[in-house]
Amino acid sequence: MMSFKISDKPVVPFIEGDGIGPDIWKAARMVFDAAVDKIYGGRRYVQWKEIYAGQKAYNKFGEWLPDETFQTIREYGIAMKGPLTTPIGGGFRSLNVTLRQKLDLYACVRPVRHFKGVPAPVKHPERVNVVIFRENTDDIYAGIEWKQGTDEAKRVIDFLNCEMGCNLSYDCGVGVKPMSEFKTKRLVRMAIKYALDKHLPSVTLVHKGNIMKYTEGAFKEWGYEVAREEFSDTTITEDDVCTKYSGKPPKGKVVIKDRITDAMFQQILLRPEEYSIIATPNLNGDYLSDALLAQVGGLGIGPGANMGDEVALFEPTHGTAPKYAGMDKVNPGALILSGCMMFEYMGWKEVSDAIVKAMEKTISSGVVTYDLARQMEGSKEVKCSEFAQEIVNNL
Ligand code: NAP
Repeated sequence: MMSFKISDKPVVPFIEGDGIGPDIWKAARMVFDAAVDKIYGGRRYVQWKEIYAGQKAYNKFGEWLPDETFQTIREYGIAMKGPLTTPIGGGFRSLNVTLRQKLDLYACVRPVRHFKGVPAPVKHPERVNVVIFRENTDDIYAGIEWKQGTDEAKRVIDFLNCEMGCNLSYDCGVGVKPMSEFKTKRLVRMAIKYALDKHLPSVTLVHKGNIMKYTEGAFKEWGYEVAREEFSDTTITEDDVCTKYSGKPPKGKVVIKDRITDAMFQQILLRPEEYSIIATPNLNGDYLSDALLAQVGGLGIGPGANMGDEVALFEPTHGTAPKYAGMDKVNPGALILSGCMMFEYMGWKEVSDAIVKAMEKTISSGVVTYDLARQMEGSKEVKCSEFAQEIVNNL
């Protein structure tokens, strides 16, 4: 995941996205191009290549997700995307889920940190600096469920009651929560490699294994197994740190620990600085990502990536916010920071650092979009494009 090879003039496909997509893409691209030019002076630059998904694809080709879009992303191994609306009656559960499944983007990676000046609901948001690796393909998101009262639900309940010794009443809806060894291990492997690559101190497996022993509990066991079997020289368990090293981790080793989900929600509020990477199943990851993001100031600045072994797709956490579409109003920060993740992935870390610094400077000077302005006394509210221009000025 970390060793993506790229030329000095890489082609990067992008999906503009629906709703506010065109507004934030235009603003973000201006920042990306200005930063790359500033750092490399024309020696390196990105050749953006538009590809289509969502409403724009439908208007152009009569299809919501053309095959060519998948082929192009696979070909280049990297892409950016804005948010997409799922068409009602389009034959998809969700365009985003389809993209993730077809490209086998098994990890949703979300760095969460505080930006100086961003209003937050806790006293010390700066203590949060964590990257969440959320499993993207397993768990109750597999979508296997039967509606209460249907023949299918009745058959499943019959089977469970008659053959498996359960005692379910017939007014239940029933869902299945699959969690596989292969999918867990590849997710935890990616998280550990990331920790090693970035010299981060720990990976925390977050699970509800005290209750769901053979799914969430197995997630924990498989996670420790990957560390033991594949990274024995470079990782150490928290237990070993306590019993063999008096609580002080040996230098250069990543500590592998685990927490039960409910306790983890307390931990991220009370002692967030003790966590640098979280590896967790799909549903826990969904809840934790939003909780942590809220803790540092919210949606407009939440970047993300969906990653597999062959492809990485960088996109903001938020959706299409349709009521603001075309108004040049919303915060392009999440998409800009998703681009920073991409530049880092490409090995262009200096571009990423420059943009983050300029964005921090812009926000802390009080020049912000409406979402932050309404919480920051004395700030100056600017449009989406003006905010981007201010970041460019601060580069
Ligand atoms: P949403 O689009 O994220 O918007 C919810 C609210 O979050 C907005 O009304 C706005 O709050 C705030 N917000 C979102 N993006 C912002 C930005 N860039 N700057 C400032 N504020 C921002 O969520 P939703 O309304 O639940 O979903 C709308 C559509 O997006 C749905 O069709 C959903 O399926 C889709 N969606 C797509 C993705 C994706 O493509 N990855 C992800 C999530 C949702 P205020 O109203 O308070 O100003």
